[in-house]
Amino acid sequence: MAYKVGTKCVQSGYTPKNGEPRVLPIVQSTTYKYESSEQMGRLFDLEEAGYFYTRLANPTCDAAAAKITDLEGGVAGMLTASGQAANYYAIFNICENGGHVISSAAIYGGTFNLFDVTLRKMGIDITFISPDATYDEIIAASKPNTKAVFAETLSNPALAVLDVEVFAKAAHDIGVPLIVDNTFPTPINLRPIEFGADIVTHSTTKYMDGHAVALGGAVVDSGNFDWSRYPDKFPGLCTPDHSYHGITYTEKFGKLAYITKINVQLMRDLGSMQSPQNAFLLNLGLETLELRMQRHCENAMKVAKYLEAHPMVDWVNYPELEGNKYYEITKKYMPNGSCGVVSFGLKGGREAATKFMDSLKLAAIVTHVADARTCVLHPASTTHRQLSDAQLEECGVDPSLIRFSVGIEDASDIIADIEQAIASI
Ligand SMILES: *Cc1c(COP(=O)(O)O)cnc(C)c1O
Repeated sequence: MAYKVGTKCVQSGYTPKNGEPRVLPIVQSTTYKYESSEQMGRLFDLEEAGYFYTRLANPTCDAAAAKITDLEGGVAGMLTASGQAANYYAIFNICENGGHVISSAAIYGGTFNLFDVTLRKMGIDITFISPDATYDEIIAASKPNTKAVFAETLSNPALAVLDVEVFAKAAHDIGVPLIVDNTFPTPINLRPIEFGADIVTHSTTKYMDGHAVALGGAVVDSGNFDWSRYPDKFPGLCTPDHSYHGITYTEKFGKLAYITKINVQLMRDLGSMQSPQNAFLLNLGLETLELRMQRHCENAMKVAKYLEAHPMVDWVNYPELEGNKYYEITKKYMPNGSCGVVSFGLKGGREAATKFMDSLKLAAIVTHVADARTCVLHPASTTHRQLSDAQLEECGVDPSLIRFSVGIEDASDIIADIEQAIASI
C-alpha cells in the first residue's frame, strides 16, 4: 500500500511484530550474537544479510534510514554520523583519486570546503559552476574523468533553487549520476528523484531532526542509475572487490549496489556511523516532519511579507516571494512550500544588522538553521567577521545579510520580535 508522505513520516521504517515494542527501540549494542562461527562467516562474506557489528549496520539506524528512503522514493538508504559524512561518502563511493566532479558553487560552506580543500587533497578535481547553469554550460564543464554532478536543491544560505530536470539531463548525457543535497526542502516539499536525481543526501541535523538535538546525515539511492552501462567509469561498482573475495557489487546486489558498497566498504574502512541513540531521536523528529515543515513555511512566508513591506528593510530573499528570481521555478518544484529560512538586509548595513540582532528577544543568535526555535545569524559579524566589506563581497556575502531561520512558534510573536528589534536601531 502506497501511503501519503505524512503517513510515511509517522509509520514507515519500523513495523513491530506481535508483542514487540510499538515504538522504535534503541538497539544500544555494538555486537550481535550467533550460534556458529560458520554462520557469522557467511555474514562477513556478504553471503547472508544480518547484523554483526554496529559500524556496518544497526537495527535502529536501519529503521530511520528506511523511513527517509521511503519518503524520498528511493530503493536503498543509509545513515551517516553527519551531513558532511553523507556528502563525502556519496561522492567518494564513485569518485576516487584521478576523478572529477562538477558541483554547483551555491552550496553549504562546509560542503564547499570538503570539495575545494579536502577532496582536492585526495586527488579529486572539482569544477564549480553556477547553480543557474544551463544544460550547455554543464556539458561544457565535463571532462573524460567526470564521475558525478552535485548540487543543492535549495541552497544554504543563498536560497538558490535548482532546476533539477536540467541538471539531471546534463548529468545523464555526460554518463554520470546527479547527486543532490535535499536538506532544506526535505522530501516533504521536494522529492528530487521524481525529477531525475539519482542520489539524494541530507544533513538530518536540520529539519529532519528538527529540534537541534542530534547530528546526522543520510544517503538515499533512487536505484535508477545504471552503473553497469559505464564499467570503465565506475570500476569500484562494476569490477571485483578483492576485500570481499572478488564480489562485484552491480552483479551481486543489482539496484542495491551503490548503497551496499558504501555500507560494507566505506563504513567498514572509514567508520562514520550514526549512533543508535541519534537515529532514535532522528526517527522521533521525522514523525512530525510534515506538520513542522508546513508551519515553518507558513511562518517564513508571513515573515518575508512583513519584511518586504517594512521601510527599514533594504532587500528580502525568499524563493516564494513574487518577484524573486526563483519564483517560477519554486512553484514548479516546491508547489507546497520551500523552507523556513529567509535572508534579508536592513538599510544601514552592517551596523544596523548588529544592532538588530542584539535587540532580538525571542530569536536567538546561534550557528544553526532549520529547527523548531527561531534563530538568526549575521555572517559578517560572526562566521565571516575576519573579512573586510570588500572581501565579503568577493565571496558573495553581503555585509548586511541576516540569515533568519523561522521556527514554529506563533508567527505574530516572531514578527513582533522583529518589529521591536528594528525599532531599536
Ligand atoms: C548543515 C548542512 C550540511 C552539513 O551537515 P552537518 O550535519 O552539519 O555535518 C550539509 N548540507 C547542507 C545543505 C547543510 O545545511
